[in-house]
Amino acid sequence: MTTIDALAARLLEVEGELQEVRASEARYRTLLGNIPTGILQVDSSHMREIFQDLRNRGVTDIEAHLAQNPALVDFANSTVMVKEVNDVALSIFGATDPSQLIGPVAYIFAASPGASEAVMTARFRGQPNLTQTIKIKTLDGRLIDALFMVSYPQKAVTSDRTVLMIMDVTEQSRMERELRKMDEEFTRFARLSLLAEFSGSIVHEVRQPLSVVLTDVTTTLRWLARDQPNVPKIRELMGRIEESVHRANDVIQRVKELSSKSQPTMSQCDINSQITTALHFVKLNVDGRATNFVLDLSPSLPSANLDSIQVQQLFVNLLMNAIYAAAQTVEDQKRVFVRSRTRGEEIIVEIEDSGSGVPKGMEHQIFDSFVTTKSNGMGIGLSICRAIARNHGGEVKVRNGVLGGAVFEVLLPIGTREQVDPARMEQSATDQRS
Ligand code: ADP
Repeated sequence: MTTIDALAARLLEVEGELQEVRASEARYRTLLGNIPTGILQVDSSHMREIFQDLRNRGVTDIEAHLAQNPALVDFANSTVMVKEVNDVALSIFGATDPSQLIGPVAYIFAASPGASEAVMTARFRGQPNLTQTIKIKTLDGRLIDALFMVSYPQKAVTSDRTVLMIMDVTEQSRMERELRKMDEEFTRFARLSLLAEFSGSIVHEVRQPLSVVLTDVTTTLRWLARDQPNVPKIRELMGRIEESVHRANDVIQRVKELSSKSQPTMSQCDINSQITTALHFVKLNVDGRATNFVLDLSPSLPSANLDSIQVQQLFVNLLMNAIYAAAQTVEDQKRVFVRSRTRGEEIIVEIEDSGSGVPKGMEHQIFDSFVTTKSNGMGIGLSICRAIARNHGGEVKVRNGVLGGAVFEVLLPIGTREQVDPARMEQSATDQRS
């Protein structure tokens, strides 16, 4: 084969390769044109060296470095160039010609402070890609919500093209906002319904501590009227009065919160202490001496994210019912067992009594409003308990125990496993009281 023949054969080969490249380029362009996503190809090759230089100079915390050197962000915004765009990008940006989008990338990030810093940070850290939601000011003056994805070149190739993909999600964001608003309205509506359900027991709950206050004030006045006032007794009575007033105040505060637009007061709480507070309250309100309380509270209970007043109210209702049920039996020993433990991602509190249990076939019914077997009952306590538990993503169930009495099982999700911060708890208690 002559040299000319060899050259001709090589030329034919190159032509073949070129055709393949052209065909693959044509396929690539068709793909770009058909993808329902705005695509912008960006040349950021010079940033590779700049980042390498920063690394050589010992920069590791790129976020801090960019915060201290905003000029570097401005430099990138004005020197990283959009080289190519597809038709979808044109319509997203409200452009009519690709030339309007070819140039420095600054216009992409103009309406989203921090977005170009995030893009630079991800590249510096060697991430293969980055996705974020940004706002884009279009050429025709609209402000749109966009899902913005960057795919970084992984190898140092000559073109070093970075691909930006943009999807207009304004409509989805608007719908999401509407849904969130509807959800908030629904939650508020649910709270108002709960409030309506609460109203009977509110009267009951406020009246109870107030009647304790009245009795204690009368007794205190009697002790004071004596020639030798019994100071320790008066101090004890004043302490009880203070507790009852706080309790009434808490209930009123709760009503205020339920009827307002404010969110429930969720905080990390120790359920055992909600139980003991509730127990303390019921002992003040019933003849505690007649009932023997047996506590078995797990010392390793994690904290749970909940509204402490609502949960206390739940326990108060169940304890009151248990005491009432135990009191109805002829047995000498009236007993109420309170147990707490963890099961998987839930905290379980069981309140069992030595009463005669829930009548057969009524296990589901008793949770409905106005279902009562008591001559002076209102039949709303358990429906409130269930509403409170469900408000927290939990549940209340009932079964009859081996003793023959009812076992109410309260399930509450643990939620965020944070350590209870005593300072915050105290603050939250003070807030609820004020
Ligand atoms: P109320 O106490 O006003 O009757 P509740 O909603 O608290 O309303 O309870 C509804 C009914 O459920 C009670 O009337 C009673 O029949 C039943 N119940 C509740 N707690 C117990 C219990 N510990 N043991 C047996 N039955 C119970």
